[in-house]
Formats: sequence, C-alpha cells, structure tokens
Amino acid sequence: MTKEEAEFRAAEATRIRSVYLDMDGVIADFDAGWRRRLGAVAGMQPFIDRYDRLYEGRKRPWRFWEQLSMTDFQFWSQLEDREFWAGLPWTGDGREIYSALCDLFGESNIWLLTAPIPDPECYAGKFEWVRRHLPNMKDRLITTGHKRLLARPDRLLVDDSDDHTVQWSIAGGRAVRIPRPWNSLHALAGSYSALTVPDWFRIAGLAA
Ligand SMILES: [Mg+2]
Repeated sequence: MTKEEAEFRAAEATRIRSVYLDMDGVIADFDAGWRRRLGAVAGMQPFIDRYDRLYEGRKRPWRFWEQLSMTDFQFWSQLEDREFWAGLPWTGDGREIYSALCDLFGESNIWLLTAPIPDPECYAGKFEWVRRHLPNMKDRLITTGHKRLLARPDRLLVDDSDDHTVQWSIAGGRAVRIPRPWNSLHALAGSYSALTVPDWFRIAGLAA
C-alpha cells in the first residue's frame, strides 16, 4: 500500500457518513417554550424568576422543574398537546447549526433524532414542527429516546444532552455537544458571539 493509499484509507475510516441532529434544545427552543407555557399558569412566574436568579451564571439542572417545585407529572402534563411542540420557536442559532451541518456533510446525510415524551400529541407536534420549518426533512425524522442504538463510528450525533452524547460515544459513535446553559459546556454557552457554529465542529475535530 502506498502512503497515499494508507492516508486515503485512514481518512475514509474516520469519515462521517451521516449526521443525527437533535431537536429540543438544539434547533427547537424548548427552553423558550416551557417558559411561555408555565408563565401563563397563574402564580407560576415568581417561581420561574426565582429559578433564573438562583442559576444565573451557573450550570442549570437538567430536571429544572424540580426547582420550580413541580413533580414530573405536574410539569410534563402541562406539555401534552400538539401545538406546544409544533409551536416551539427556532433556537437563536438553530438555523445556523442546520445550515453549517448541510455545508459540512450535505443535507441528504442529515437525519433528525429526537426523544418525544410518551404522549401521541408530542409525536404529532414534533412532526408538525418539521413540516413547518424543515419540510425537506419530514421523512427523515427518527423518534426515540434510545439514541445510542443508532451510534456507529461513521455517525455523528449533534445534541445538547450530556447523557445522550456520552452514551453515543460509549456506543462507538462521534458526538458534538452544543453548549447550552444546562450542560457541561455551559461556560461556553454565553460566548456565542465569539464562537461560531463551524468553530464548534472544528473544536470537535470534525471540520477543517
Ligand atoms: Mg435536546
């Protein structure tokens, strides 16, 4: 084998062939959505304000509703309707993330991978969100909370969850964790203006 062949094979072995893009917290603004929904519940806004003060400049908990004195049931049952999920706004950098992935890997190699809550309206609402905002992707939506089952060395997960990205990597895939106030990269989440989306992929060694 020549040196060029060896280099070509090494590059091929590490080439990413498909990308699995999370929705909530990456391109769909779940954080804005729950604030809007709970803020409309009588008496709830002071709890949200107190939570924001408590976690200003600190990593926010994944199970933030506990800080709002809500049980799992009390919180999630507020979100069991189609329009909650279908009506989530884009995140501030969601379009940038999507177009950076299209540029780097090609739109036909991208899939949406999202973990719905166990409610049929959530499944329908997520599909509706894709139909409204990314109609090219409407037959490329994969719904499961068991994301790691899809991990392979040539597959990239782009997600905001510490758990999902760690499990994906352990299962043999490659992952980019998008910095958000509720994950281990929270310190970077405030420096969006300094770090562009392609920078994140370069940091992860996935783009030149
Ligand atoms: Mg997410």
